[in-house]
Amino acid sequence: MAKTKYCSFCNNEITIDNLGIEGLNACICFDCLELYHKLVELQASETKKQVYQLDVKNITPKTIFLELEKEVIGQQEAKKILSVALYLHYLRITNSSLHLEKSNILMIGPTGTGKTHLAKTMAKILKVPIAICDATVYTQAGYVGEDVENILLRLIQNAEYDIEQAEKGIVFIDEFDKLARKSENPSITRDVSGEGVQNALLKIIEGNVISVPPQGGRKHPYQECLQIDTTNILFICAGAFEGLEEQTKYSVGFQSSKINDHINYLEKIKKYGIIPELLGRLPIIAKLNELTLEDLKLILTKPSNAIIKQYQNIFKTCNVELSFLDNALDEIATRAIKEKTGARSLKKIVEEMMLDTLFELPISDGTKTIEITNNQIIKRKEKVMNA
Ligand code: ADP
Repeated sequence: MAKTKYCSFCNNEITIDNLGIEGLNACICFDCLELYHKLVELQASETKKQVYQLDVKNITPKTIFLELEKEVIGQQEAKKILSVALYLHYLRITNSSLHLEKSNILMIGPTGTGKTHLAKTMAKILKVPIAICDATVYTQAGYVGEDVENILLRLIQNAEYDIEQAEKGIVFIDEFDKLARKSENPSITRDVSGEGVQNALLKIIEGNVISVPPQGGRKHPYQECLQIDTTNILFICAGAFEGLEEQTKYSVGFQSSKINDHINYLEKIKKYGIIPELLGRLPIIAKLNELTLEDLKLILTKPSNAIIKQYQNIFKTCNVELSFLDNALDEIATRAIKEKTGARSLKKIVEEMMLDTLFELPISDGTKTIEITNNQIIKRKEKVMNA
């Protein structure tokens, strides 16, 4: 006759119906297993809450601005606007009794000037999840391409499937200007990747409970969807809107008030091909400027993970102090300006010019300091050109 088994935790008799797990010398009944599972889930959600806990004491528009100052060079006006917008977002997600209406943001500025970087830094300051998406991969539901609901899935995934946290997060939609309507008349052509996506975005940006397929891809009638309320999600749409500034300069060339300027600007964006309903959901406009030579030099050295700091850390591992002369920084920034991709090309330029020096790693011949000068960069450039 088989020996009676008892649960090693609660000591209750184990039957065929309530056996959880059986090992060599121990058994766990199903009830204890379930209890353990719940405990693990609880612990996991506590950990997640800690990760996204807001820093309640210190959040004010000014402290947000100072945090942005540490990481984002230049763009003073945009940083001020975004500090206030982020503060209001913070109030909205921490104090529902205020009934603050959501103010999503439209960021307009040339490529590589810090739009994505600003959004990422904003999410870090509030310690909320962020999803960064490219508008050009989406199409209207039913057509080849991704459904816009997948933007929300990315946010949920980045919040480790904690819907409550995702509902307080930030969605950054890059290349938003590429969704511009192709024709002035909306009904002439079927514009599934432009206006179609704008309409689909409107639904999620407005603030609705949206069904999101948990595996991504298309919604399937038999698939159980995740439900997410987008009322408090902060949407930041960003794009270069090339040509918009020139158009604007013409129209506001006369003495006009700030409000008139703003209305004029909105008209230009509509003309550019953004549907008015969607534009109406993006009431905050932050404009970013082209970066100057001095800005680019600061980007190389100041932010916490500045490129030069990263290289200095590499050389520190061999006890070598790496420094860049000002003329070297000048040369790097000048070349970046020529490439016309803002700060994006800085990394590539520094990488290229540091190749010979990095090739000597690890340095063990007693060298204590290495100084990078503009000559070195120019020499390296010549080598690359002759290669
Ligand atoms: P975009 O405006 O095209 O979104 P990004 O924010 O992606 O540009 O910028 C590319 C990289 O260049 C960022 O990861 C960041 O390291 C750097 N960068 C760009 N602009 C700034 C800035 N104003 N301050 C600090 N770093 C910047």
